[in-house]
Amino acid sequence: MEQTIPEGRKKRLDSLYEALSIVADDTYVYLCDMRYDYSRWSQSAVDTFGLPSTYMYAAGDIWEECIHPDDRASYHASIDAIFSGTDGGHDMQYRAKRLNGNYDVCTCRGIVIRDENGEPEYFGGTIRNHDIQGHIDTLTGLRNQYGFFEDLQNDIAKEKLVCIWMVGIGKFSEINEVYGYHFGNQVLQRFGRYLLDHVGNRGSVYRLDGTKFAVISSTQTPEQITDNYENLRKRFRQGIEVGDNKIIMELNAGLLLLDNFSVDDQTVYSCLNFAYGESKNRKQGDMVEFYNDISGENRQRIEKLHVIRVSITQQFKGFSIHYQPVVDAHTEELIGAEALIRWGSKEYGMVQPDMFIPLLEKDPLFPDLGKWIIRQSITDAKKIMEICPRFVINVNLSYAQLEKPDFVDMVLELLEETDFPADHLCLEITERCRLLDIELLKNIVVNLRGCGIKFALDDFGTGFSSMGIVKNLDFDTIKIDRSFVLKIEDDKKERELIEHFTSVAATFGARVCVEGVETAGMRDILQRFRVYSFQGYFYSRPVDFDSFMEWAKEHQKITA
Ligand code: C2E
Ligand code: CA
Ligand code: CA
Repeated sequence: MEQTIPEGRKKRLDSLYEALSIVADDTYVYLCDMRYDYSRWSQSAVDTFGLPSTYMYAAGDIWEECIHPDDRASYHASIDAIFSGTDGGHDMQYRAKRLNGNYDVCTCRGIVIRDENGEPEYFGGTIRNHDIQGHIDTLTGLRNQYGFFEDLQNDIAKEKLVCIWMVGIGKFSEINEVYGYHFGNQVLQRFGRYLLDHVGNRGSVYRLDGTKFAVISSTQTPEQITDNYENLRKRFRQGIEVGDNKIIMELNAGLLLLDNFSVDDQTVYSCLNFAYGESKNRKQGDMVEFYNDISGENRQRIEKLHVIRVSITQQFKGFSIHYQPVVDAHTEELIGAEALIRWGSKEYGMVQPDMFIPLLEKDPLFPDLGKWIIRQSITDAKKIMEICPRFVINVNLSYAQLEKPDFVDMVLELLEETDFPADHLCLEITERCRLLDIELLKNIVVNLRGCGIKFALDDFGTGFSSMGIVKNLDFDTIKIDRSFVLKIEDDKKERELIEHFTSVAATFGARVCVEGVETAGMRDILQRFRVYSFQGYFYSRPVDFDSFMEWAKEHQKITA
């Protein structure tokens, strides 16, 4: 096949495409110039399925990646038959994977157009997505998630300045528990109705998943929306009548001003979800606007996040793992390292994880990244073990990863695939995991520890329920956050706290690792306590794999 498509052929493709593309919005159009295997696809298909672009070479192969593994063989056979000239078209059903990880049922119809010699010249047709036909939530009668994403995509495409806010009911599970599921549904209906009346003609209302609703408004400013939200909150605090009961509700809300159009709907959703999470977990329900602190910052942040998200779908391009040594507190020998993710690009430079991990944690793509991090870290750790046999690699987990029902299997499969010894892997979780169901968490920890994997509680002491979590789960290591040792050289209170933390750890049979050891003075003081290991800039900053190997070899000479 010839390499690039000539300009004239591309124009012809475009004009044929335009002629085809007057169809309903649940239908995507594709047209392929078979001589160059160059295609044009609908923007909505690109957005929905995360395709690289509306113009693609070898679109058939790209699309095949989106198709459900069980449906791939028949799709592949059909495309082969079309391209080899044996079939004149196809009409088939398969499942295709959206950017958010869900599969939609699609019917794909296409025909081959032949040139004057009877050779296949174009292959074109439509893909009808059956899952987005019903854009209505059956419970509330409001538009649903699909409707929300569709409208959001349109606003982005039209570069329309809008304010989007997400509002949800706090502690809804209590309502369900006390009054039953059916009553819970009535509350949601009432809430949806209320929100719709409250918003009136100032925006469109959607029900997202569970107890979350969203409003897209092109006429209101963030200040006006925040005022409205405060009124809504007051109203629900006074209680609303549902059946014979008066229900008092607490709300949470996040807001985002969409003023940047080089992003996609999923990125906007992740940012909105993040603002909502902040409102719920940290601001007692106050409206949180997504980074409106420094003007221009917001714009850049969303855009950067968008690029980072897309990298996940492009074989993790730009991601790398840095390693920071963990040493024995007394001998200072190397005993392990913590794997710390980085992302970088020419345009944005090296980006620290604090800039993107908290924003992506709830993103449907995050578990893929999490898996990649584990695989990469244990693959590297295997090489490090060749020069340091007792080496243990610490990998950070986000609670969203743990929520996936196949998490335990996934980890065990990775160990098998890489032939990595389970007892050289330590998973770090933070007390933020308390947001998860404790039984679920216990199950995971018990299961994986049973296979030899170690667990560490990260950032001990920074959260408000660190004690709760150590009581409920068995940890091998407790990592004390660096904020507790910053002033340890002059601050008696900090020394007392360390004493206290180490005795808590001992009570639960866990070892203590102190993070943020920056000076010899800090080391000397900390060596007086029952601390097992150190991590910090005094030994090394997190560095890439090659530099880590060099450091390890040098360091071993010193401690030998
Ligand atoms: P963390 O797990 O508490 O990681 C330790 C952080 O402290 C690292 O920042 C490290 O560079 C920094 N640090 C270590 N020693 C010192 C020191 O002596 N002084 C100072 N000032 N800082 C020190 P980093 O790499 O920016 O990571 C920040 C956070 O991002 C991590 O905090 C972790 O919560 C998250 N993170 C990093 N990698 C991953 C990952 O692969 N998965 C997940 N879920 N989260 C990650
Ligand atoms: Ca950590
Ligand atoms: Ca930490």
